[in-house]
Amino acid sequence: MTSIRTKLVHAGRDAKKFLGMVNPPIFKTSTVLFETIEEFHEKEKQGIAMKSYGRGGTPTVEAFRQALAALDNVEYAIVTGSGISAIVVSLLTFLSPGDHILIPDCTYRCTRRFADQELKKYGIETTYYHPRIREEIATLIKPNTKLLYLESPGYVSYEIQDVPLLVGIAKKHNLITILDNSWGTPVFFQPFAKGVDVVVQSISKYINGHSDILMGAITVAREELYQRLNATFSSYACVASPEDCYDALRGMRTLAVRLKQHEASGLQIAQWLENRPEVKKVIHPALPSYIDYPIWKRDFEGTGGTFSFILHENDERKINNFANSFKLFGLGLSWGGYDSLVMPYRVSNRTYVDYKDDYYIRLHIGLEDIEDLLADLEQALSTIK
Ligand SMILES: *Cc1c(COP(=O)(O)O)cnc(C)c1O
Repeated sequence: MTSIRTKLVHAGRDAKKFLGMVNPPIFKTSTVLFETIEEFHEKEKQGIAMKSYGRGGTPTVEAFRQALAALDNVEYAIVTGSGISAIVVSLLTFLSPGDHILIPDCTYRCTRRFADQELKKYGIETTYYHPRIREEIATLIKPNTKLLYLESPGYVSYEIQDVPLLVGIAKKHNLITILDNSWGTPVFFQPFAKGVDVVVQSISKYINGHSDILMGAITVAREELYQRLNATFSSYACVASPEDCYDALRGMRTLAVRLKQHEASGLQIAQWLENRPEVKKVIHPALPSYIDYPIWKRDFEGTGGTFSFILHENDERKINNFANSFKLFGLGLSWGGYDSLVMPYRVSNRTYVDYKDDYYIRLHIGLEDIEDLLADLEQALSTIK
């Protein structure tokens, strides 16, 4: 089973195990019963995916773990109750008081909050680096630097990082690399093939795809790193529920076809926006006019339907009015679901960002008819005259 599209359909399934049922059913438990105390001790010893208590996962959770590992072509996956808890577990696994971490300035805002509030509390220092940094990353590495964190594209602003180059430099300095692949998904970006050690994802986005659950995942190739990650995960116990694993696994089956549609509609709308007089800049990695297009083209297999644009208008009241005027696009956080979303953001708290004082209008292009979406954008743009 080599093609990712085939894996999306078949990975994590074993109908024979479940009376021929196509999807692994929802198994729920806290208590697991044993025939003998010897059996209990044996199961406890197996450790890895604890089979002695519900927190270690039921067959539904295990099915989803197996599917995620298969998509990334690795041995191990851990599923957590949210994308942010997957990030928290992976950071806490490899950092101790007095350590230093490099995080791109464009990181997801809750990752930044965790570093600024929680890591700081433990005496762990963060340097936010320019997302387009290249060889100069070496000058930011200190004797106590343990981790290089990567996130590509950037949150709201879509900078694409030169992942192979940065990972190569991190390896020379014995840093562990963690990459947030929520945007790329294993369909469009294969981080382990680029040398990344640990991958975190928000399953709440494209993989589930229906805007109705929160879940995260950590995938890892090396057993030694997995053991350490699993120990931290077991201590914090931010587990995902079997129901949510069932839903996410079902959502995952259609990921490739959904992404294809998100990608086609997203690109068409991005190109349409580029020709609008109200629009100053469209920030979409797959537009040849975008500064990071060459790296995107080199490293990614495609794009989803999520991107930003900047208006010439920058007055807060007018931007709010514009955001309020959409009828089909929902005004809400997140992306990756079947429905289209819009949200204006300012990221002026960052040091290295292309449009520090402008509003980024982030769109998620869903699966609606494209003509209807264009009509909604057209009428919304007409409000900012
Ligand atoms: C949404 C998001 C997260 C957090 O995921 P949750 O499941 O909402 O906790 C992390 N990273 C990126 C890039 C995201 O977009």
